Amino acid sequence: MSTTADAAAPDAEKAPAFSLELSQDQRDIRDWVHGFAKSVVRPAAAEWDEREETPWPIIQEAAKIGLYGFEGVAQLHADPTGLTMAIANEELFWGDAGIGMAIMGTNLAVASIFGSGTPEQMGEFIPQCYGTVDEPQVASFCVSEPDAGSDVSALRTTARYDEPADEWVLNGQKAWATNGGIANIHVIVATVDRALGSRGQAAFVIPPETPGLTQGTKVKKHGLRASHTADVFLDDCRIPGRCLLGGKDKLDSRLARAREGGRSNSQAAMQTFEVTRPIVGAQAIGIARAAYEYSLDYARERKQFGRAIIENQAIAFALADMKMEIDAARLLVWRASWMGRTGQRFTAAEGSMSKLKAGEVAVWATERAIQILGGNGYTREFPVERWHRDAKIYTIFEGTSEIQRLVIARAISGLQIA
Ligand SMILES: Cc1cc2nc3c(=O)[nH]c(=O)nc-3n(C[C@H](O)[C@H](O)[C@H](O)COP(=O)(O)OP(=O)(O)OC[C@H]3O[C@@H](n4cnc5c(N)ncnc54)[C@H](O)[C@@H]3O)c2cc1C
Repeated sequence: MSTTADAAAPDAEKAPAFSLELSQDQRDIRDWVHGFAKSVVRPAAAEWDEREETPWPIIQEAAKIGLYGFEGVAQLHADPTGLTMAIANEELFWGDAGIGMAIMGTNLAVASIFGSGTPEQMGEFIPQCYGTVDEPQVASFCVSEPDAGSDVSALRTTARYDEPADEWVLNGQKAWATNGGIANIHVIVATVDRALGSRGQAAFVIPPETPGLTQGTKVKKHGLRASHTADVFLDDCRIPGRCLLGGKDKLDSRLARAREGGRSNSQAAMQTFEVTRPIVGAQAIGIARAAYEYSLDYARERKQFGRAIIENQAIAFALADMKMEIDAARLLVWRASWMGRTGQRFTAAEGSMSKLKAGEVAVWATERAIQILGGNGYTREFPVERWHRDAKIYTIFEGTSEIQRLVIARAISGLQIA
């Protein structure tokens, strides 16, 4: 039987021998992030969930230990197997997903600058995304709009080039932006030529304090409440020409190719999503694992009918299924993480698969956890109801479960399934 990964590997002989044993470096980083999640993040989780505010003191703590900042991310990314980034995200989100997103949300904007920017743009803007240890900052990656969520080709935010001034002028409204309005750096995806759909779009960096960018309503959410989410308005927002990621020459030749009906780079865009989605999946696994561990302990302690509730198969089997599903989801996340880092082709949308499975396992496992805790599970005195609320977003953002299924279905069939 051949797996997708080995069928796709062009030079399988050069690949290291298969092993799921973590290296000493991976174990050290896992334990380091877990220690932070356990001692700093989890004790603060309920408070910041209730406050529904950005946990700046915790972000600062993360910056102090080197977890928040470009060096920290670069360290996680350096692992040639690709697993460390997933492992670190799982541990941090095991502590708390709202605070986890407040710490990791900046990385979305950074990934976009890193993926599309020139070396000069990376040098100028990435440090500003994180700020300093004494004064940490956050960044925001704004794609979604009120009428363009799953369908990003429908974006209405425009970017017009004012040639005499060498400035771009942006107008429009962004929706549900993580860190929107409070960010030091906003990366805005806007359309330069709407007739070209997603091929007519480009990403722009809005430097700090730029007039014309304002925060709209801060969204009150079901979960992930320590992470700030808001609309962002762009009203004749003028930015220097150098803020177009990748530069104007590159954009002009891309637009010219698209207008001539040249090949779309949607394959390349799909591969990029496949690389980032497992990280989101790892976050969902962190929440699911927290709920599983908590309910396992609870089921051992709680006695009804003269015995621990875990001594009933109904409870013990639920826990067995939770453990199995979480481990299965993690294996999909690790496979996709490894594929992304080692440059394997995602022939069956393995990245989307991992995010889909992990998100759905997180929702299901946290619901099971509430059931195992009974009445206690439904109260805010116990953390499982928060984990359930937090888990739900993982079937919605970064591509809904339906969109992941669409991507997988298209990849395996080669057809434009609608
Ligand atoms: C907490 C939070 C944080 C977010 N952070 C960011 C951020 O930082 N940056 C950003 O750009 N966006 C962000 N988003 C937006 C998020 O990515 C979108 O909400 C998501 O892509 C879904 O879009 P939508 O809400 O418009 O749903 P819709 O696209 O309207 O979908 C509604 C329903 O229809 C289904 N559906 C749509 N099209 C199809 C189809 N073709 N086939 C089958 N089913 C379909 C969907 O799966 C879903 O169930 C965030 C959202 C939230 C809630």
